[in-house]
Amino acid sequence: MHASPQALRVTMGDRVLVIFGPGDITRQETDAIVNAANSSLLGGGGVDGAIHRAGGPAILEACWEIVGRIGRLPAGQAVATPAGHLAARYVIHTVGPVWSGGGQGEPETLASCHRESIRVADELQLASIAFPAISTGAYGYPVDQASEVAITSAAKALENATHVREVRFVLFDSETFTQYTHAARALAASSSLRMDLNP
Ligand code: ADP
Repeated sequence: MHASPQALRVTMGDRVLVIFGPGDITRQETDAIVNAANSSLLGGGGVDGAIHRAGGPAILEACWEIVGRIGRLPAGQAVATPAGHLAARYVIHTVGPVWSGGGQGEPETLASCHRESIRVADELQLASIAFPAISTGAYGYPVDQASEVAITSAAKALENATHVREVRFVLFDSETFTQYTHAARALAASSSLRMDLNP
């Protein structure tokens, strides 16, 4: 049996951080969705495979063009492509860190993924962007630690953005959703922000 989706909204002035799950990012209607890509940008498993399957070949063609121009995408950076058949207008591809114990700069790289993806969305003058749980699948980043880094870095970038008004995390399974809501609750409590569950 599937759990029915829930949403936790954290209001930050005229901006909102939404934690949603269980959910499928390929079905999101935000202006952009973020892909947890690998440096080759040539598609892979997990959320990357799901995005390319649902969006069709236009996304991969745009990725080839980018790799031809700039080479492999380093971890922590982000680039935008069109979104093919998806409801979103853009896919923002970012490369998360591979977990190797936490002492190799993984938190800084993961924070950079969120900061750079929101910066790219802001440059495109987009209002909303949805993230998956970057690095927590094949790349092995422990979800409790990844959620804290993801939420705090995304909230900070949202605060500093000019156009982006909504950052949404779309978590594929209930356990990941629970971890991200813990991180969001901790952030809201520490900054006295308003929180609403299932508004
Ligand atoms: P990484 O290589 O960065 O670890 P993965 O794609 O292996 O990326 O996993 C990242 C997260 O994306 C995992 O929590 C996985 O369950 C989740 N995921 C997989 N498919 C989807 C999807 N369609 N929508 C949202 N999240 C997804």
